[in-house]
Amino acid sequence: MLLRKERELVVDYGKRLITSGLTRGTGGNISIYCPERKLLAISPSGMDYFSIEPEDVAVIELSGAQLEGAGKPSSESEMHRIFYERRPDIRSVVHTHSVFCTTLATLKWSLPPANYLLAVAGGEISCAEYATYGTKELAENAFTAIADKKACLLANHGMLAIGNDVAEAFLVAETVEHCSEYYYRAKCVGEPVLLNKEQMAEMLEKIPSYGK
Ligand code: 13P
Ligand code: ZN
Repeated sequence: MLLRKERELVVDYGKRLITSGLTRGTGGNISIYCPERKLLAISPSGMDYFSIEPEDVAVIELSGAQLEGAGKPSSESEMHRIFYERRPDIRSVVHTHSVFCTTLATLKWSLPPANYLLAVAGGEISCAEYATYGTKELAENAFTAIADKKACLLANHGMLAIGNDVAEAFLVAETVEHCSEYYYRAKCVGEPVLLNKEQMAEMLEKIPSYGK
């Protein structure tokens, strides 16, 4: 079986998308890239996360051609492949329909640095321009919005996170959702106080060594 380890991780993290409340139903998707083989394992389209087996996870080339997997590759494979094609540091992409990120994305707001944890994603998060799901246009819009950060919101849709492994991409997704929730709740009762450039710059230096 091609990319067995990556396919098992896609299954495991797919379930976590649901149990962590990061997505609903069959929304969202996950991929893991293997640079040695230039192949990615990507979640199957429209399948219940708790019924996906490693054999269902699609293995595709950077061109999008499917080599293995009983499932159809996620409809957002273009939005995953664009990062592996253009960013050699990126090894995993996680897309969610999490409630608070999607709420801000529905307002077409960006997520400002109102909490130090946003440093996990590289600081302020932009909202990508709207485009139809599954299109090259949405992939390009997301790539532009992420720029040098590790996440972006997707207008009227959800959120996208990237990382140098699936644990990092998932942590970024979770953290951006938490920060969106704090920001939203604060915004409901007052005007959130944002961290300034110096405070965020200090956090960007400090956070990578947290827990290490
Ligand atoms: P897939 O089930 O095809 O991965 O699509 C879900 C989704 O979130 C589309 O944006
Ligand atoms: Zn989606």
